[in-house]
Amino acid sequence: MTIIDLPSPNHAPRPTDAEVDILVLHYTELPLEESLEALCDGDRDRRVSAHYVVAEDGTPYRLVAEEHVAWHAGQSHWRGREGLNATSIGIEIVNLHGDRHDYPAVQVDALIELCRSILARHPAIVPRNVVGHSDVAPRRKVDPGLRFPWARLATAGIGLWPRAGARPVDGDMQTALQRFGYPPAADDVTTSDIIATFQRRFRPSREDGIADRETRALLADLLEQVGEQP
Ligand SMILES: [Zn+2]
Repeated sequence: MTIIDLPSPNHAPRPTDAEVDILVLHYTELPLEESLEALCDGDRDRRVSAHYVVAEDGTPYRLVAEEHVAWHAGQSHWRGREGLNATSIGIEIVNLHGDRHDYPAVQVDALIELCRSILARHPAIVPRNVVGHSDVAPRRKVDPGLRFPWARLATAGIGLWPRAGARPVDGDMQTALQRFGYPPAADDVTTSDIIATFQRRFRPSREDGIADRETRALLADLLEQVGEQP
């Protein structure tokens, strides 16, 4: 895979002893040119970047070297840790809104190839640590969106996808979601918001924030896959 280097000034050193163990997937919300411009703009008030951008035709761009911190996740939380930029790699996938626009097959194929190479370089990125921006910033972010092909990625060995038929989680839903990685509820993010975020990722056909039997069963299966008590 040929990657086009387009260095962005928006990066920082990794903190000492920070091991890269999270991969965060985003959509750009902007067309390619505008995305690259924004992610390489060192003069704007809120400087942003990502390690990679994948164009709709599958062309990958490298903006920030993996050994540096890129500024893509913002306020974020996963598995009890916050501020995930320090230990993550971020990929921006060009798509104007992943709830409404499909990701072209050629783009998904290129993304899979890129993710595989990243995972090979960073074995600490275990499958449950391949996340969407929405997973790590519930309510605040919705990318990569309802149409993102998580199941296809999981089949390719990137991230998890739940199997049907597990015995539903019967305890407290918030606790079970946190056991998988989701943040605790807060003043501005309710448990229902976090359930909706989970559904957005793992049950995109209905994202209503209600812990129905199917949602509880999908979460139970995922917890089993990662070796946690349902
Ligand atoms: Zn994002």
